[in-house]
Amino acid sequence: MSRLYLVCAICSRRQAEGLLSGAAWGRLALPPGVEVDHPALKGSHLCCCPSCVQRHPGWQEELLASLGLSQHNGPPQSAAR
Ligand SMILES: [Zn+2]
Repeated sequence: MSRLYLVCAICSRRQAEGLLSGAAWGRLALPPGVEVDHPALKGSHLCCCPSCVQRHPGWQEELLASLGLSQHNGPPQSAAR
């Protein structure tokens, strides 16, 4: 019941989910069909704390690259906007 916390994929920081600042956390949806085992995985999203989002403007790409999921093909697209 008390697993409602967010884990940063970059610095591994934890924070209880539901706090106001939780909304500032970055979320990265995994590509369809991709399965990874990561402590920062929340459902099908990877989480990134606000500090790391600010320090790493390209955290999503860095994270995908670190997982070996880097997408080289095509221009970057921001879906779901
Ligand atoms: Zn972080």
